[in-house]
Amino acid sequence: MEHEINACNNVLELIGNTPLIKLDRITAKLKGNFYAKVEAFNPGHSSKDRVAAYIIEEAERKGILSEGSTIIETTSGNTGFSLAMVSIIKGYECILAVTSKSSRDKIDMLRAMGAKVYVCPAHVSADDPRSYYQVAKRLHEETKGSIYINQYFNELNIDAHYKTTGPEIWKQTNGNITHLVACSGTGGTISGAARFLKEQNPNIRIIGVDAFGSVLKKYHETGEFDSKEIYPYRIEGLGKNLIPAATDFEAIDEFVKVTDEQSAHTAREISRTEGMFVGYTSGAVMQAIKQLSEKDIFDKDSNIVMIFPDHGSRYMSKIYSDKWMEDQGFFDSNTVEETQEIQF
Ligand code: PMP
Repeated sequence: MEHEINACNNVLELIGNTPLIKLDRITAKLKGNFYAKVEAFNPGHSSKDRVAAYIIEEAERKGILSEGSTIIETTSGNTGFSLAMVSIIKGYECILAVTSKSSRDKIDMLRAMGAKVYVCPAHVSADDPRSYYQVAKRLHEETKGSIYINQYFNELNIDAHYKTTGPEIWKQTNGNITHLVACSGTGGTISGAARFLKEQNPNIRIIGVDAFGSVLKKYHETGEFDSKEIYPYRIEGLGKNLIPAATDFEAIDEFVKVTDEQSAHTAREISRTEGMFVGYTSGAVMQAIKQLSEKDIFDKDSNIVMIFPDHGSRYMSKIYSDKWMEDQGFFDSNTVEETQEIQF
């Protein structure tokens, strides 16, 4: 009977091949044709499933991992969730060092997926022994038979997207893509997709989205690391306080910076207008599109692909909480009134 059942063998078989969805409503007043690659359709609900599966399978191919090995990583949440998911199916231990900036929901989710989680202070420098980088490094040294994924400095992070995200976009657009707009955190997504797409057509314009408070845009423009650019911000997974080796700055044509406040409102707008419940950085990408449109970057023949990295359910206690929005000062008095609930 078994051969008649049409089922996947496990969730890992569902990684990748995410849909491209046309955005008509939120872009109604903009010039160009806009498409979102919706990474929440991965089984772990984010683009990081691709990276977790690819890096672990590469380590298996090289014979680095064996039964009961430990996977260690630093993560804002999504990579951790994907690594925990892959580890469960493949029988590895998963240890994650995260920052206190990560939402409570994300940390609980990682623990629900069987990972051991260390929460480290967010606003310390990368070389501080309390930083999540240093904690992960120490755990790796202390844990026999462990591998450290090190997504910010691992070229395989780029390869994962070069082999999957890039070719999928090329195929889904029949080669008619003119612009790719994507967030840059580790830089793996944008760099891998960009490398593949530029190999097919070097005229495709690649635009990275960065946060105010991050060094990426300035580094891209000047080649210099300017620590004066660094200050705390709220968006998780976007921008950085160091230069990640997993970012191919040459493959990126320009960076656009977006604010926490506008990105949060735009994420909520996507949910309300397109019926797509997306994460904070999807709001950041759409916000960048609005800013680029104001500068008249696109015309009616432009086919713009944007990457929506994850799902809105991960941000219930943040951008989808009116209270949180209010506490950040993201609502003016008019908006708050509009969103107040009617008491029955
Ligand atoms: N958005 C979210 C929510 C993320 O977690 C990440 C990964 N840090 C990104 C965007 C950026 O992706 P990448 O690391 O591939 O640049």
